[in-house]
Amino acid sequence: MNSNLELPGLDKATVISRDNHSISRKQISPNALKVLYRLSDADFHAYIVGGGVRDILLGNKPKDFDVATDATPEEVRKLFKNARIIGRRFKIVHIRFGREIIEVTTFRANHNPENEIADHVPRRQIKGLDSAHSKSGMILRDNVYGDIDEDALRRDFTINALYYTTRNFELLDFCGGLDDLAKKQIRIIGDPEERYKEDPVRMLRAIRFSAKLNFDIEANTKKPLNDLAYLLDSISPARLFDETLKLMTGGCAQRTFALLCEYQLGSYLFAPSMEAIEQGDSISAKLVDLALRNTDQRLAENKSVTPAFLFAALLWPVLKLHLAASRNQDIHPQQAFQQATQAALTEQLDYTAIPKRFTVASREIWELQNRLQRQNRRSIESVFNHPRFRAAYDFLLLREEAGEELGGLGQWWTDFQNGDTKLRTELIAAVSKPKKRRRRRSKRKSPGVSE
Ligand code: ATP
Ligand code: MG
Repeated sequence: MNSNLELPGLDKATVISRDNHSISRKQISPNALKVLYRLSDADFHAYIVGGGVRDILLGNKPKDFDVATDATPEEVRKLFKNARIIGRRFKIVHIRFGREIIEVTTFRANHNPENEIADHVPRRQIKGLDSAHSKSGMILRDNVYGDIDEDALRRDFTINALYYTTRNFELLDFCGGLDDLAKKQIRIIGDPEERYKEDPVRMLRAIRFSAKLNFDIEANTKKPLNDLAYLLDSISPARLFDETLKLMTGGCAQRTFALLCEYQLGSYLFAPSMEAIEQGDSISAKLVDLALRNTDQRLAENKSVTPAFLFAALLWPVLKLHLAASRNQDIHPQQAFQQATQAALTEQLDYTAIPKRFTVASREIWELQNRLQRQNRRSIESVFNHPRFRAAYDFLLLREEAGEELGGLGQWWTDFQNGDTKLRTELIAAVSKPKKRRRRRSKRKSPGVSE
């Protein structure tokens, strides 16, 4: 077996021996350990890094485990039947164990002209080659392999650059991450402006970790946020959708949203909502806030949350604004409603992508708001049996809680759901509209209305 000292870059680390840190193997997923052992048995170096180490040190349960290694993606794949190389710009390996995926990345360095080398060639293999050769390959900044110390420096925050190994069970700190964990602060590695310019999503990550861990953002890390928020413009809507989901489903959406607003970052994720909240009524702004609180509560109770509900809430102020604008136009209310839902969703797609299955469901939640206005037995039963009823009902309750006056509609539906057949019949009878044009109907029975 190799000794740790053979790994280039290791001399740059502060090494914390097993007796001096709190990580034990019991806190690590058995699958992540399997990956470490197998890589190690094949004479590679492998470490748990990122959220897995950070969260254990904080006494939290990690969401997932990421592994960093000096093995190339191809070398990793050869060792695991269940491994798949993904990513075009930078290859990473996903090793699947049932529902758990362990993500394995090869140590890599940050962009630096000196390091620009051919794709697929790990630096440890080409060190010593002449410059003509090293310039020959395709230059893709993300595809630069590096040593472990460089791998640490290209990570985003110091608390995310701690490495744990099952060789001697040591913890490695290259950037003062342990100190920042103790100080409860998010500190970016390197020059903040430069690092945000390299990847503007790091600004969102700063907010996410600050909200999730209840950490302050260190002064220099925080300073450029307002001024550089506009850089998010250059990020693809697909990536921003992924980040938005992480921001909103991390268990502290309410705090996250407030921080996003504070640093102007929210305007680059939800511009239409932000504008509508500013112009619109306080009730729909309140609905957004309550929906985020609701999301956090549901996650705390291990209940599922759907992006469709989140977007239905976030875009509610936008929808309301469109509806208000259409009121002065000579347009059928149903058509106006459809146009407004379409406009609200389309405007958001300039900022974050939203997969179709979610936009369809968001629209259903909105449409059901109208249908929840009980007409008669048939309409009540049809809305009650709709697959999206529960989400629509939850949404209705939020609207009322936010201050919309809906004449006790939420309570009616609560009673209806809890009631037995007799109570339901009474509830329906109490609200069913009297039949119109009785005389004509006795001659020609309308197919659209049932008793
Ligand atoms: P969690 O999984 O709990 O959300 P995490 O820190 O593990 O948090 P991941 O997105 O899983 O976050 O990323 C794993 C690690 O990869 C991070 O801890 C960080 O070291 C590095 N990383 C991720 N995204 C970036 C980025 N945009 N810039 C630099 N490093 C990053
Ligand atoms: Mg992670």
